[in-house]
Amino acid sequence: MSTTETPRSLNFIEEIIEDDFKTGKHTEVVTRFPPEPNGYLHIGHAKSICLNFGLALEYGGRCHLRFDDTNPAKEEQEYADAIKRDVHWLGFDWQEHLYHASDYFQQLYDFAEHLIRSDKAYVDSLTAEEIREHRGTLTEPGRESRFRTRSVEENLDLFRRMRAGEFEDGAHVLRAKIDMASPNINMRDPVLYRIKRETHHRTGDDWCIYPMYDYAHPISDALESISHSLCTLEFEAHRPLYDWCIDNLPMLPSKPRQIEFARLNLNYTVMSKRKLLRLVQEKHVNGWDDPRMPTISAYRRRGYTPEAIRAFAEEVGVAKRENVIDVALLEHSVRNHLNKTANRVMAVLRPLKVVIENYPAIETEWFDSPNNPEDASAGTRRVPFSRELWIEQDDFMEEPSKKYFRLAPGREVRLRSAYFVTCTGVVKNDAGEITEVLCTYDPATRGGDAPDGRKPKATLHWVSAGDAIDCEVRLYDRLFRSEFPEDAGDFLADINKDSLEVIPHAKLEPSVKGATPETRYQFERLGYFVVDSETTGEHPVFNRTVTLKDTWSKVATKG
Ligand code: ATP
Ligand code: MG
Repeated sequence: MSTTETPRSLNFIEEIIEDDFKTGKHTEVVTRFPPEPNGYLHIGHAKSICLNFGLALEYGGRCHLRFDDTNPAKEEQEYADAIKRDVHWLGFDWQEHLYHASDYFQQLYDFAEHLIRSDKAYVDSLTAEEIREHRGTLTEPGRESRFRTRSVEENLDLFRRMRAGEFEDGAHVLRAKIDMASPNINMRDPVLYRIKRETHHRTGDDWCIYPMYDYAHPISDALESISHSLCTLEFEAHRPLYDWCIDNLPMLPSKPRQIEFARLNLNYTVMSKRKLLRLVQEKHVNGWDDPRMPTISAYRRRGYTPEAIRAFAEEVGVAKRENVIDVALLEHSVRNHLNKTANRVMAVLRPLKVVIENYPAIETEWFDSPNNPEDASAGTRRVPFSRELWIEQDDFMEEPSKKYFRLAPGREVRLRSAYFVTCTGVVKNDAGEITEVLCTYDPATRGGDAPDGRKPKATLHWVSAGDAIDCEVRLYDRLFRSEFPEDAGDFLADINKDSLEVIPHAKLEPSVKGATPETRYQFERLGYFVVDSETTGEHPVFNRTVTLKDTWSKVATKG
């Protein structure tokens, strides 16, 4: 995306691409995003999506969405649907280029027979345990299997019978015949196919043998004429195998190049799908789109914008070495975008009644208030003012401490866009709790400015009691307490128990009435909030997207 204002220097992948254009190696950029449909996409995937689709847009090429569905055991249609929705929501489109590794099962099988015929693959009948023992270590070479010398004919026959379902799961595997003494363990006759009786969500029971990722991936790339196959650093040691597969299948239409970049890591965040699945299955969160999750669908529900996530991905850039990004940078990006785009409204989360004794009981006045001081084109809205208002409980103190400048007996404050009011007393119930704060207002300060130029030390937000919308507000905080939740061993032990606070009855100004899910607001002085996707008309639910400032460093788990 060329959305940055000042041109930045090329990242190392762009340098490779531009070099390939210069030398004529490629005339087109074709990338792919290859998720395994075994979970929801997270912010790390978002980084990869922005990179792959972004490069295609930047160079006028295309980016394929390819489901890497070679492992039938863990894959589900629900995940595939969610992945498509998330990529679209982020603002990218694969157009007609939606593919599945399973589309290539027959070709992958035929290519495997080709490898057998060229004596580049053999059927091994060692047990999984024995294969592991034969593999060797980083310092010791592996040992060849006693089945490695089977004839081409025998291998072909066995492989066909594997495919025909004649053998039990695990009875045989197909292995590449490369080099058991290779210093790279991935090159020690890696397994290409295993027998696995499992119904595949797309191919059903057509197959009882399934290709391994390291075999299916390069071939899928080559079949789709991917020019630059971008993956994360842990695949660096797999690259020789990637190239081996392509080099030994001369019928493939293209020779893609694998390029590795550093995966996105975020502090305070767990990103592995396996761990996210545990959070969901063991009900530590309310589903994959619980707003505390680092998934794209959770961010969406929480009120993050695609623009903010794309800007974050751009800001993070592409690195060649592992690093950890501060999650505050993502939150900063969200604030930055919402500050420009979210309309301001007034909401009171913990209401305290204010009665303005010298204001007529029957009157309602309407004040114009700017929707967004950052954007005049956003216009204004009308906010009702009346004798009875709600303010925040913590905007009043009966006996103010020294540094407390908000409302207190005898003190004057500004009610945003309305009037100056002065506290004249309080009403208490039998338990001694304050039930009302009594005030008088100064009619000369209409609109929030005094003709004599006096300026109260505090400006409060407020909501007219008779006009308020009652709503539920969910305050979300980080799901984990420590910066690296996985370091202490059990990441579940690090869950922040205060990561969700539900306020069942907050008060909202009436302009928000009828707001549809995913509408985002700034609640003045409180933060950014979004209408929850499961909200119903009568009692809307709002999720806090992010506070106005980074409060985490002060251990603020409260509003
Ligand atoms: P996880 O390790 O979280 O389970 P995965 O790598 O197994 O994720 P895939 O569905 O295989 O998940 O990933 C699809 C694509 O997204 C791959 O190209 C992968 O390299 C990329 N990807 C996954 N996690 C990250 C990350 N943290 N940063 C950047 N890219 C990532
Ligand atoms: Mg993977």
